[in-house]
Amino acid sequence: MKVHNFNAGPAILPAPVISQAAQAVTEFNGLGMSLLEISHRSKDFQAVVDEATALVKEIAGLDDSYKVLFLQGGASTQFGMVPMNLLDASETAGYCNTGTWAKKAQKEAKQFGNVLELATSEPDNFTFIPKGYQIPDNLKYFHITSNNTIYGTQYHAYPKSPVPYIIDMSSDIFSRNCDFSQFDLIYAGAQKNIGSSGVTVVILKESLLGKVNRTIPTMMDYRTHIKENSLFNTPPVFSIYVTMLTLRWIKEQGLNIIESVNRSKAELLYNAIDSNPLFKGTVAKEDRSWMNVNFIMENRDLEPEFLAFAKANNCVGLAGHRSVGGMRASLYNALGLDSVQHLVNLMNEFAAKKG
Ligand SMILES: *Cc1c(COP(=O)(O)O)cnc(C)c1O
Repeated sequence: MKVHNFNAGPAILPAPVISQAAQAVTEFNGLGMSLLEISHRSKDFQAVVDEATALVKEIAGLDDSYKVLFLQGGASTQFGMVPMNLLDASETAGYCNTGTWAKKAQKEAKQFGNVLELATSEPDNFTFIPKGYQIPDNLKYFHITSNNTIYGTQYHAYPKSPVPYIIDMSSDIFSRNCDFSQFDLIYAGAQKNIGSSGVTVVILKESLLGKVNRTIPTMMDYRTHIKENSLFNTPPVFSIYVTMLTLRWIKEQGLNIIESVNRSKAELLYNAIDSNPLFKGTVAKEDRSWMNVNFIMENRDLEPEFLAFAKANNCVGLAGHRSVGGMRASLYNALGLDSVQHLVNLMNEFAAKKG
């Protein structure tokens, strides 16, 4: 039975990644041991970290002024680690508030310095991406959330920043082409689009660091992890391995192919939502996410029945986030067009039954 996995995170991974990871858990590199049993200081694991690092840089097209780190604590830890490393108490950082995760990032930053909320769509339930606001050039940095996983909005053009540019790309990293060099620090929890939970990828310009006056706990200091190539302490070995495998898969396809498939999947589903009288979208059309498609039913009372019908037909993970309700279909890189077509067929079948 094929399950169509629309989970928002942890989420679907490419099938070859799952089987290779399973093999490594049984035995890794012919060592007679599981990946879970080897030393993180062994040359076999060092090769994994080195390859994962090189793949991130290659896929992102970044030069050696950028460092790549594999850290723990999720993207949520980066909400605090960014300002702890970059923002002095007397300084001000600018944030654009586009949803739950953006707001949490802002809340953490307030513990370390001043936060200027440059724009927000909160009064409109985060149904759009604010545009056209000024970003003062005296800010220490500017922070945005690329894709709003819970509300289903996404930047399709990034604003230009006159100051160091920080981006949370947890739910859309490597889902499309992008000039990654416009950013100074990129972070992403791996479990949405590039791996399994337990590791967070941070890509940053080393030149940002060493400019704040506070003392930083060793584990929270980016310089510690840069110096030790993410091996200061025991890293999440398995999660880094799964991420490395997923990055290999992404590189094999190339971001051009990944982008065009993701675009087709999103268009197929949004067209179905717009043309089916039972369903409707929840956010501004120009800001619709390709990764997380949020939709509701004209008659909200029918939603539990539709979700049960989808579940009975092997669609998993379609309920909206507990804070917003409705439906959310997450269409990450590893989800095939066939799964989206299956969902669209179910929506049409459901409409025919009710019509
Ligand atoms: C899921 C998510 C987070 C939180 O990630 P954790 O790894 O669970 O801390 C942060 N930002 C965005 C955009 C997310 O989608």
